[in-house]
Amino acid sequence: MRQIIAGNWKMNGTLAGVAAYAAALRAAASPATLIICPPFPLLSAFASAFAGSDIGLGAQDCHANPSGAHTGDVAAGLLKEVGAGYVVLGHSERRADHAESNAVVAGKVKAALAASLIPIVCVGESEVERDAGEAEDVVRTQLTHSLPEEFTGLIAYEPIWAIGTGRTPTAADITAMHAAIRTALVAQFPKTGATTPILYGGSAKPGNAEAILALPEVGGALVGGASLPAAEFLAIAASARVV
Ligand code: PEP
Repeated sequence: MRQIIAGNWKMNGTLAGVAAYAAALRAAASPATLIICPPFPLLSAFASAFAGSDIGLGAQDCHANPSGAHTGDVAAGLLKEVGAGYVVLGHSERRADHAESNAVVAGKVKAALAASLIPIVCVGESEVERDAGEAEDVVRTQLTHSLPEEFTGLIAYEPIWAIGTGRTPTAADITAMHAAIRTALVAQFPKTGATTPILYGGSAKPGNAEAILALPEVGGALVGGASLPAAEFLAIAASARVV
């Protein structure tokens, strides 16, 4: 399987920028599976711009319910209808800004799966938790409670202290955490846990991508800031390999 390089645009980007960005990705012969997760209003434009290519499109959140009185929220089925194939769920910024608990995330994952979206579920410890030696326990707890009984999709390990900071864990720490996540997934999901891709996220950039993507159990990367310029995103993806 090719490594997966997913771009999380967060609350960035404009409609005017979609065509050139999509054209740059389409023109590249990337060794990775590429996925772009823009803000909701750009999904349709990206869906059109990626049509006929194998570039994936994802949203950054969905609601746990299929429809209803939830002002400002978006249903998974509608995301699917406008062309999304993936949805990022449980990102630390949503857990922090919108008080999303593990249980809330699990509900959203269930809704995504019911709508045939592939969830990209984020887990990761804070700096305080890492310094206290609790990182693996925190992530194991997130996996236990943020995923429904049946799960297929992607996991993104994103240490909160590495997101947008320019800091990354050591290779040994990424390796240890990805191994711990694999063990937990296999125990939790005997059918799918061994093959669930585990992405790394947190200040991934062209300069560190090759080293990170070479580590065992790293199925790809979830990229925030460096996914915004197409050239940087493609430079990261150029380090991808078959795993
Ligand atoms: C993210 O928020 O998903 C992320 C990985 O951000 P950055 O690459 O900017 O650290």
